[in-house]
Amino acid sequence: MNTTQDSRAQIKWVTQNHQLVAYQDAKISVMAPGLTFAALVFEGFRAYWNAEQEELLIFRLDDHLKRLQFSMALLELDDPPNSETLAQDILATLKANDFREDTYIRLQVYVDDWGSMTATGPVGSTVICRPRPRVATFETGQTFITSSWSRNLENASPPRIKASGNYLNSRLAGLEAKRQGAGGAVMLNGDGTISEGPGGCLFLMRDGVFLTPDVNSGILESITRQTILDMAAAMDIEMAERPIGRTELYLAEEAFYCGTGQEIGPVNAFDGRPVGNGEPGPVTRALQARFDEIVRGRSAAHEHWLTRVYAGADNG
Ligand code: PMP
Repeated sequence: MNTTQDSRAQIKWVTQNHQLVAYQDAKISVMAPGLTFAALVFEGFRAYWNAEQEELLIFRLDDHLKRLQFSMALLELDDPPNSETLAQDILATLKANDFREDTYIRLQVYVDDWGSMTATGPVGSTVICRPRPRVATFETGQTFITSSWSRNLENASPPRIKASGNYLNSRLAGLEAKRQGAGGAVMLNGDGTISEGPGGCLFLMRDGVFLTPDVNSGILESITRQTILDMAAAMDIEMAERPIGRTELYLAEEAFYCGTGQEIGPVNAFDGRPVGNGEPGPVTRALQARFDEIVRGRSAAHEHWLTRVYAGADNG
């Protein structure tokens, strides 16, 4: 079963190699190292629709582009596209489709054409934007298992970069969760402490303090995770970044999973053991509410995290 909402019919234009093309005309070679050897890095962003302002707001565009620059550098791509060009590509793609709803943006940069495992060019890029409403589990929460698959090691396939190759590991854990009827999986790193889930980071509360694995626990340096740490500081919610043991999952009073796709998704149980009373907790709910205000342009102090798509644009 494919659980990703199929919104292809709503995509008119995508950008490939900095040119707008019809979705069905964007192509990569069947021998592209981006495909054959996973020489592909990417970013996923959300753009939020603010109905009163009739504006689409891209969340933390600059921070995502900065992370992509690091991912591209690690792949040693030839002459990687600069962040200004990629930002223009994203804005042009959103405007061309004239999206007026919550949208997901996938930006990918890869080695195209034909080549070996160590080919560093020619470099191709695509921007694909599609409507994507908030996931239902934002409200309901979901259950997690501890995966029998370990997280990729920093010294093998580093989780710190957003490379498609890392998602084989995520897929195996995700399939295991699905087989067991759970919504998500927690992966342990080489040290046996908690890393992250297949596509998001974890927070859990112990004795009133939210804990999250530190950035050397085998995680992607999640932009949502950092947003939550910043928000919490301003809300007087105590948080700490440190290695977390598996058994601490079972002591959690509240827990959530976070990332661009999930936003802040409550976790109701780990390995069949309820988190708190098995319902999304009050502090998790407060963080969700504050996050929603920020991403939808209702917090003046966070305007610098938002890029306005239509403001001042001729929409051409
Ligand atoms: N970890 C993994 C493995 C992910 O795929 C994601 C989603 N991008 C995250 C964490 C969360 O990162 P972000 O908040 O930047 O989307």
